[in-house]
Amino acid sequence: MNNKEINNNKNWSISQSSNLYGLDFWGDEYFSINDKGNVQVHPYGKDSSSIDLYEMISSFKERSIRLPLLLRFPDIIQAQMKKICVCFNKAIQDQDYQGNYYGVFPIKVNQQRHVIEDIIHAGKDLNFGLEAGSKPELLIALSYMDNPKALIVCNGFKDKSYIEMALLSQKAGRNIFLVVERQKELDLILEMSKQLQLKPQIGFRLKLNTQSKGFWGKSSGEYSKFGLTSQQLVSSIEKLKQEDFLDCVKLIHFHIGSQIPSIQPIKLAIKECAMIMSELYLMKCPIEYVDVGGGLGINYDGSGATRSSTDYDIQEYANDIVFALQSLCEKKKIPQPHIISESGRFLVAQSSILVFNILDKNSIEGEKNITISENSSSFLKEMYDIYKNITHISYNESFNDLIEKKKQIYDTFIYGMLSLTELALAEKIYWASVKQLTQLTKNKEDYEDIFLTLKKQLTDTYFCNFSIFQSLPDSWALSYIFPVLPIHRLREKPNKQAYLVDLTCDSDGQISKIVDYKNWEIESFMPVHDLKKNEPYLMGIFLTGAYQEILGDLHNLFGDTDAVHIRVKDNNKYIIEHRVKADSISEVLEYVEFHGKQIIDKLHNITEQSIIKGDITRQEADLLVEKFEENLSRSTYLK
Ligand SMILES: *Cc1c(COP(=O)(O)O)cnc(C)c1O
Repeated sequence: MNNKEINNNKNWSISQSSNLYGLDFWGDEYFSINDKGNVQVHPYGKDSSSIDLYEMISSFKERSIRLPLLLRFPDIIQAQMKKICVCFNKAIQDQDYQGNYYGVFPIKVNQQRHVIEDIIHAGKDLNFGLEAGSKPELLIALSYMDNPKALIVCNGFKDKSYIEMALLSQKAGRNIFLVVERQKELDLILEMSKQLQLKPQIGFRLKLNTQSKGFWGKSSGEYSKFGLTSQQLVSSIEKLKQEDFLDCVKLIHFHIGSQIPSIQPIKLAIKECAMIMSELYLMKCPIEYVDVGGGLGINYDGSGATRSSTDYDIQEYANDIVFALQSLCEKKKIPQPHIISESGRFLVAQSSILVFNILDKNSIEGEKNITISENSSSFLKEMYDIYKNITHISYNESFNDLIEKKKQIYDTFIYGMLSLTELALAEKIYWASVKQLTQLTKNKEDYEDIFLTLKKQLTDTYFCNFSIFQSLPDSWALSYIFPVLPIHRLREKPNKQAYLVDLTCDSDGQISKIVDYKNWEIESFMPVHDLKKNEPYLMGIFLTGAYQEILGDLHNLFGDTDAVHIRVKDNNKYIIEHRVKADSISEVLEYVEFHGKQIIDKLHNITEQSIIKGDITRQEADLLVEKFEENLSRSTYLK
């Protein structure tokens, strides 16, 4: 650090960084900044073992684990699983509720085998089960769930073979529930159960009237694609009665959407569901389980007031569910059911972090001491006068003149009245003026508007080594907010602001929504540090463990990044439990039917012809083929 930097940093602390980047708001007990100014992860709370992300990743270089890198922390999943069980059990004890709590993890939220294995392992003592929403997910659940006490909940649209597999697994001792999403499924369940001579455990997904707000509100309400209306429910019950299967109805279920921002619709939904349960009880259906689905949200932006946030916490969520069920059961004098929740996002969102490096930047230099020659065009001279007079006339006047002149620069060029060299000089003068005016209006209340407008113009563009389409699809598709920040240098005051753009050739390939924690506003840029020559600048996107991996796509053929699973040990130590290698270029090419041998052959044809024509030497051709082959086995990202 030079003297200027040291002075600058005297006025800056890690707690200011923590505030600026919102860690205070979304970091929970898992993420904070250490004394070195690096982000640290501590799955078991701030006072227990913690891992310095920057130091860990720096040490990965020797082990040829490359950026961009997805870090997974199974300990965080485990901590979240414990948390949800503890909170429900506390609510149950405090309120003297008669049923138990069962968690099931919805596989669709993160299907990676290592994640599922961690959940099954961590869930052994908690009797945590799995939820499947499709046939492939069912195959995962049936083969991996080896705890007979844990539940397997089968949702999603089902055909005969889906149902057959589930019923056979029930015979094999699994505690499995078939949740009817469409009336037709009930016929299939009855048919197969008779054939296999067993009593199925049937559930019904309710189409509630209560609709949630937020990104996924459409999952609920009258027109949602899922579940049975009250009419369909009643006629299904009739049928079960005729067939003498009423005692098989064990469960009712609803799911009113994901990342539900407000507790109100959750309370309403559970009331509506409890009422239906009590009616079913009168119809001689012994409902033993109420499955409240997913939707438990995460504080992505830390505000507690937006769609990317929640206005409740997990204990409140559990209390409200237990309370609503208990009140109605007591009123109606019916048994209190066990409670199942299918929270997915809540369990895994915080467990993954994507770390990437900044490859390069575009920035506006704003040179000082510009001069122009006597015989420059009058246009340039006018521009230069504005620049020279900035300190003499009012800032407002300078600002207005500048904006007007900027527009004129390009008009004049298009009409052929300015050479390219003159245009370049005019731009140079413009940016020098902007820079100077920004400095002059900084921290002056009367000129705040001017300052902010100009500062935005001076915003750098940082080129990030990742693809938003592959690694952060919800940010692109839904303008969803994820916390993003540098994972080191947080003792230094960030002196720049930058847009974060990705590697794809797509103008949408940018993190377009970033919280400005100073003003609690959404911006498209963020505070960053200047890049240093011989030191990588590493940034992390946090809370990416739910949905992002599987929804990611191969835009521009950027594939999966490297991933490592980090198990945190005592005394700030860790081990790498699993290493999952990034997709190689040949692997992503295979997806689109370009096969390695075949494209190498194609390249050979081309180089052979060029050799014959004398355009390229044999050595050069060999070198090209060699480099080509080398890259086939490389990751799709930049070194
Ligand atoms: C997606 C889904 C979930 C998981 O929801 P989260 O909001 O991630 O907890 C649970 N149940 C069903 C039926 C789902 O479709």
